[in-house]
Amino acid sequence: MNRVALQASSTPLIHQHDVALLDLDGVVYVGSDAVAGVPEIIAAATEAGMRFGYVTNNASRTPHEVGEHLRDLGIAAIDDEVITSSQAASRVLAERLPPGSPVLIVGTAALAAEVESAGLRAVWSATDDPAGVAQGYSPELSWAMLAEACVAVRAGAFWVATNADSTLPSPRGPLPGNGSFVEVVARTTGVTPVVAGKPEPAMHTECVLRTGAAQPLVVGDRLDTDIEGAQRAGVPSLLVLTGVAQPADLLTARVGQRPTYLAADLGGILVSHPEVVLSAGAAICGDWRVTDRGDSLLLARFRDTGGSGHPASPASSGADCDALRALAVLAWETGIVPTVAGDQTSAALLTRLGLASGD
Ligand SMILES: [Mg+2]
Repeated sequence: MNRVALQASSTPLIHQHDVALLDLDGVVYVGSDAVAGVPEIIAAATEAGMRFGYVTNNASRTPHEVGEHLRDLGIAAIDDEVITSSQAASRVLAERLPPGSPVLIVGTAALAAEVESAGLRAVWSATDDPAGVAQGYSPELSWAMLAEACVAVRAGAFWVATNADSTLPSPRGPLPGNGSFVEVVARTTGVTPVVAGKPEPAMHTECVLRTGAAQPLVVGDRLDTDIEGAQRAGVPSLLVLTGVAQPADLLTARVGQRPTYLAADLGGILVSHPEVVLSAGAAICGDWRVTDRGDSLLLARFRDTGGSGHPASPASSGADCDALRALAVLAWETGIVPTVAGDQTSAALLTRLGLASGD
């Protein structure tokens, strides 16, 4: 069987892909700060000829505002490289509605600007007889705006949500995201919206149209949006561990949410990726072997005696990632979540990955 997830790449990913579509929060930055090393990685990949799309489900900021944030972090991004779920939602609306149609905005002025640049007319009240409704996150969202949306949707307006993320990460923990407010309108009206953002295909289409990517690589930190979105679009993906997804999440990832590649951070685009070899109840990657013990998986250092063994993984991919790749592939194969480590080295590594058993 040709495994789709956790493939090998004998050359660095920057040589296989013309455009990397980067999720922002958890990949490029966390909160307002850059993930360590990312501006340098983007500069190095750009030097090597790769282009970037900066992709966000958050509909509250304009591409210019996002671009300014990226430039403040030392990334040479231009506004046209920023792709938002507002743009994707506006295209979905413009494809359905005649030019100039009134569209009720439930969201920010940034969303209204995208709707207008798609050739539609932004309106703010259901009394303007909107033919469509565009709903995106706004920190100013009020009951009155949601009420307008309910009236318009019930009257038959074509309803598009920029994204369906139910929460928004914050320093104070998860706070209500657009999906939670979409749910309010859905429950009130009994109508389900079309969703544009990741993991829905409209977002990936928008990315490809705006970047002209021929061989895109999707890079993300979430399995249920970034990685699933890439899979649904039939495009390879790289999961990085600088954001939401933790090693334990990878091991229990369901089929539609398993990444093509894995790396500790965005530096994974600059390197090749080792093969995970599955044979007779064991998975081997780099120096690490994982064995199926029936009700548990055993991780141990695999000492290649040279010659006939498996190729060493690139130094930059890291031992932790090699062990995690082998663990993930065997966990997916067997449905077992690992518990045991055979020696001190692997015990320390499992602890680092948050996978050590409790006892
Ligand atoms: Mg993210």
